[in-house]
Amino acid sequence: MIPTRIELNRPLPPLTYLAPPGLPAGVRVQVKVRAGAAMGLVLGPDPDPPKVKLRPIEGVVDPFPLLPPKVRELIAFAAGYYACGEAALLPLALPQGLRARWESPLADGRTLAHLREAGAWEELSALGEAWHAGALKLPTFLHRPERRGAGLMEVRLTDRPHPPKVTASQAKILLALEDAGGALLEEELLDVAGVGIGVLATLEKHGLIEKLKRVDLLSQRREAGVDRIVQLNEEQQGALEGIEVGRFGTHLLYGVTGSGKTEVYLALVERVLAQGKRVLWMVPEIGLTPRLLSRLEARFPGLVAVGHAGLNTGERVADVVRLLNDEPSIFVGVRNAVLAPLRDVGLIIVDEEHEGSYKSEEHPRIHARDLAIKRAQLEDCPVVLGSATPSLESWQAAQAGRYKLLKLTQRPGTTVMPTVEVVDLREVYKATRRKVLFSPRLLEALADTLKRGEQAMILLNRRGFENFWMCRACGKPLECPHCALSLTYHKGHWRLRCHLCGFEAVPPEACPACGAEHLRGVGEGTEQVEEQLTALFPTARILRLDRDTTSRRGSLEAGLLAAESGEVDFLVGTQMLAKGHTFPRLTLVGILNADQGLKVADFRAAERTFQLLTQVAGRAGRAELPGKVVLQTYSPDHPAVQCAVAQDFEAFAATELPFRQSLGYPPFVSLTLYRAESDTPEAAKQALDALKQRLEGTPGLRLLGPIEAPVARAKDRWRMQLLAKAAERGTLGLALRKAPLKRGGDLSLDRDPLQFG
Ligand code: ADP
Ligand code: ZN
Repeated sequence: MIPTRIELNRPLPPLTYLAPPGLPAGVRVQVKVRAGAAMGLVLGPDPDPPKVKLRPIEGVVDPFPLLPPKVRELIAFAAGYYACGEAALLPLALPQGLRARWESPLADGRTLAHLREAGAWEELSALGEAWHAGALKLPTFLHRPERRGAGLMEVRLTDRPHPPKVTASQAKILLALEDAGGALLEEELLDVAGVGIGVLATLEKHGLIEKLKRVDLLSQRREAGVDRIVQLNEEQQGALEGIEVGRFGTHLLYGVTGSGKTEVYLALVERVLAQGKRVLWMVPEIGLTPRLLSRLEARFPGLVAVGHAGLNTGERVADVVRLLNDEPSIFVGVRNAVLAPLRDVGLIIVDEEHEGSYKSEEHPRIHARDLAIKRAQLEDCPVVLGSATPSLESWQAAQAGRYKLLKLTQRPGTTVMPTVEVVDLREVYKATRRKVLFSPRLLEALADTLKRGEQAMILLNRRGFENFWMCRACGKPLECPHCALSLTYHKGHWRLRCHLCGFEAVPPEACPACGAEHLRGVGEGTEQVEEQLTALFPTARILRLDRDTTSRRGSLEAGLLAAESGEVDFLVGTQMLAKGHTFPRLTLVGILNADQGLKVADFRAAERTFQLLTQVAGRAGRAELPGKVVLQTYSPDHPAVQCAVAQDFEAFAATELPFRQSLGYPPFVSLTLYRAESDTPEAAKQALDALKQRLEGTPGLRLLGPIEAPVARAKDRWRMQLLAKAAERGTLGLALRKAPLKRGGDLSLDRDPLQFG
């Protein structure tokens, strides 16, 4: 046994254990850390081990690295770029629960376990390389029965508290469910827990578990899909020909909403599959893409696999096994899919590339779009970033010639862009003498739509009933006791809620500060929109889609399917509505307050507002029926609003980019945001001051701060920020190496940050 560096997925530096010599980097091992057991990732031999008694590892989990070499390379790159451990990235690519079979036989009759007993790690590594290269078949190596599809029974934990006493078999069931994150398929559960089915009945009677017939949304969609082969128009054909398969290149497919980008992707996929390569297709959110999945399934039957957050542990393992067995040719997934263990990737698509959900707002804070480009480079294949409202980062890269720009300027066939009517809310106020949610113009349009039996979508990008409560007597807003943030009123639940930490309170009668009974709500949210609409249009069928109504698994998909099949007249919601969904009967889009997002103190406020307005407006009239948008605003002259009204991205980019350049913001500089979270504001400031000192003098690096974070206290921790700017990304990388952060300390960092809260 030799000293070996092993990294855990914990805020700890790599540790040194004794492990067999020759154990390759990238295999998982079981180790003891303090009192507990943990999974670790082998980094390599430790040339300079600490002079203490080293513990041996408990066991080797993988015979060789299970991730394909290119994915391992990508993880190594990402770990360096985002300054996080490889072990923190590993779970994004490989589910913890995945185990390979050591008993799997080789052609000569030996098993992998035999090689382990002989300590032949080099031979095992070579076998792994051959397996990844497709030169070695190990048919029983990753063997898991396929358990997906309609008609399966799922067992879930309820939130009923456990009784004081349960039997041993009952405990096994409850523990197995807890380990699996609360839900498992019945068959799988009985397997894992090793008990008979009778135990389930008892637990169900006591209300501790519930059984649900699992509806596989994908299989539903499969039935819905009909493949409509369209003839690509000239622009689409041009875009298709502009993408060279078989070698690396970054392409920006900029096409107005409904211009047929998806058809271009589909044609491209066909070409890539014909070359025997696979496709990684990334989307911002799976729940919003039932149509895409049915189109894909119809065009490429049996070749599509989908990875998403709604899968339970068992299903996730089954998916990765399928990928490693090279079964699907097209893998559709969200952010983490960029690390999916798919081999022979010949094309990467990043649809709606401007979407913020590609960036993780938790450690490790990766940006999947950026990593997709890196992956395409490693795989030597094209990557296509598509959007009707490209991020200014991608647009600028295309302008500078680093990405190849492909444009679709028109909707195909007879579908036309929607007409946009602007309602100046200042005029409405003058006329009505009060603040209204719905202008007379919008009410009229809604009534018309309802009469014609068509659908309308109403956007207000704020959930809850009222944004916050304040006291008229003393002027104080009601704040979360743990965060420097006001509480949002949710009428349906009769609660004031903190949207940051989840704190909840029953709304008080009187102001907690001065005791006056003059509390009032300020700022409407979607819940209030729904209430007012119900009162105004009692016969309308209204569906609200926001984070509050879609938190249950499958509820978003169910809502969208209902809306699509015409069971909904008015869809009310937040930005969730903007994300690439097509409703055939949707002809009216109402935007209640277009300038809501402009007041945010963030240099991307205008860009986000433009994107949201343009994307929502683009939902109108996507099929045979012409669409109309009524946009209410207090600032009709703001460029973001004006360009959205004209649906003119290029004009927006042309006005916004010079601002960014003169103020020194991305895409003209790169950023790293260093954050401190401490028990006191002084400690937070000190930590950043010390960091600043270490960074000062780095050529090309500008440091701004430390300053208080926009939300100065969250979950009882005080927050400060230090912003590092540089014209070259490399300078920021240098800074990371010059002043590495202690893992598990008060400081963290965010490269290419999108959120500054
Ligand atoms: P995008 O991805 O740009 O939003 P889609 O690819 O979903 O747009 O296309 C919008 C609609 O137009 C779809 O219903 C699609 O089938 C249709 N469509 C796309 N290209 C063509 C074409 N060349 N001829 C006819 N219909 C088309
Ligand atoms: Zn809070």
